[in-house]
Amino acid sequence: STMPPLLASIANAGRHGVLVKSATVMEQIGRADLVAFDKTGTLTQGEPRVAEVEPEAGHTAEEILAWAAAAERNSEHPLARAICAHADQRRVAPQPVEDFVSLPGVGVSATVDGERVRVERAPADPEGPASTQVIVSVNEQVRGRITLTDTLRPEAARTVEQVGALTTRPVHLLTGDNAATAAHVAGATGIDRVHAALLPQDKAALVKEQEEAGAQVLLVGDGVNDAPAMAAATTGVAMGRRGSDLALDTADAIVVRDDLSTLPRLIALSRRARRFVI
Ligand code: ADP
Ligand code: MG
Repeated sequence: STMPPLLASIANAGRHGVLVKSATVMEQIGRADLVAFDKTGTLTQGEPRVAEVEPEAGHTAEEILAWAAAAERNSEHPLARAICAHADQRRVAPQPVEDFVSLPGVGVSATVDGERVRVERAPADPEGPASTQVIVSVNEQVRGRITLTDTLRPEAARTVEQVGALTTRPVHLLTGDNAATAAHVAGATGIDRVHAALLPQDKAALVKEQEEAGAQVLLVGDGVNDAPAMAAATTGVAMGRRGSDLALDTADAIVVRDDLSTLPRLIALSRRARRFVI
């Protein structure tokens, strides 16, 4: 072909389902020597399901779901969608909501029928089950807990192995979720550098720390909570299908086809193009 190599590889990446935003990005991707993955929606499908609703004494599961679904209705988080879908399925009646506030990496709060409802992450319990638990509180009082489970992407372990082989530094896992769930996903995918219970700014700080130590970080994520870390990384890659608008805007490249195995292919494509350029 008569196309310049970087442009040809951008076109090629596009055919494989990855949108690369510029020639500079295409070139940078191949320089990555450390790949870091977000967990929820990136290594996992990002389609969690409600496994259990546990009300405190004096409350019913339906009440907990009614509060939680109302507070979560305006959130685009995968956990929010799962809670709302579950409430619908159980025909829990929708309630009026005001003053919705999203706290990225933490949860949501809203006024439901005059009361302040919060749905947020439970304190990390390293002995706890490998699932995500959120607490539902009303006017600062815990009223119940909802347990959600997500499934690993079928290509996750193989992708981690392949990017690990293409890079000189160990693969990292960065998540806002609890340590037990993070350890479960890390074990299943063969990642041994695991960082759990991170706020969005903690993810960014970890990336900066690695970059200051000389690493060229390629961070893969999907959420609003990953945007600061994507911006801090040499290269930010967003999972496109269910990715949040902020993640898609901040990312340097977008995995349009919902398949992680495009990632090692992308790194290889960039390296091949650079051999021609340099
Ligand atoms: P990850 O880094 O794995 O993608 P997030 O940073 O989005 O996860 O979320 C971290 C934790 O914060 C979740 O595991 C959950 O406990 C809590 N959380 C975040 N958003 C919500 C929400 N909309 N509703 C309830 N809990 C939430
Ligand atoms: Mg995520």
